Amino acid sequence: MTAIPQIIAGNWKMNLTLSQGQEFIDTLLSMLNGKELSRELLLAPNFTLLQALAPRCTGRGIGLAAQNCAFQESGAFTGETSVAMLKDVGAAYVLVGHSERRQIFGERDELLRQKVRAVADGGLVPIFCVGETLEQRQSGEAFEVVISQLHSGLAEFSSSQLIVAYEPVWAIGTGQTATPEDARSMHLHIRKFLEAQFTWGERVPILYGGSAKPENAAELLAQPEVNGLLVGGASLDPESFLKIALA
Ligand code: PEP
Repeated sequence: MTAIPQIIAGNWKMNLTLSQGQEFIDTLLSMLNGKELSRELLLAPNFTLLQALAPRCTGRGIGLAAQNCAFQESGAFTGETSVAMLKDVGAAYVLVGHSERRQIFGERDELLRQKVRAVADGGLVPIFCVGETLEQRQSGEAFEVVISQLHSGLAEFSSSQLIVAYEPVWAIGTGQTATPEDARSMHLHIRKFLEAQFTWGERVPILYGGSAKPENAAELLAQPEVNGLLVGGASLDPESFLKIALA
């Protein structure tokens, strides 16, 4: 089996204006100073920054992801953004099913399945996020919940270009990180599911997300089947993002 290259992805959420985003990239590139990293970098800025950031990132080892998309191709869907539009302005990946979309905006399994499919049909790579709540973990349902989210979200998926992000809801933005053992056992579980489901399941990168920071990145990244990190808060500062990438 060929090793999966590790990915460090930053989710900026609804943070950073255009000039702040440009400054972030310029600072990151100057800190890198032409050095090639062994890990791939991805950034998910707001839609409004994608087009301007694309020329700064292209050819410099930084991929761009959108944070959301519509499942429809085009038409009367006020306020929505299609996959083709995202591709047009330089996104190569789209986050789907982030817990903030599930919890705050009520995105349900069926809608997420349609979005995952739309991303793949539009030629971009979905980063499909799954994760249990604290209540579900405490009642021993964590594995079941995550597998059911995967089962449902990927039910109509046939492209082999996919990234999965395991993000326990209780660890997102709370400063509370899953222990390396918790991350490892869930990632092994997810891998088994992907291998059983898809002939290419062994090649899907599985990222961990939830209060990842420079202090805990190395330990998390050392776990088997942890193929990278999805970083929220600590991705807003180029120095801490780079420290994570170099951990
Ligand atoms: C996220 O929003 O995907 C995330 C992991 O956030 P944080 O790192 O801030 O917990």
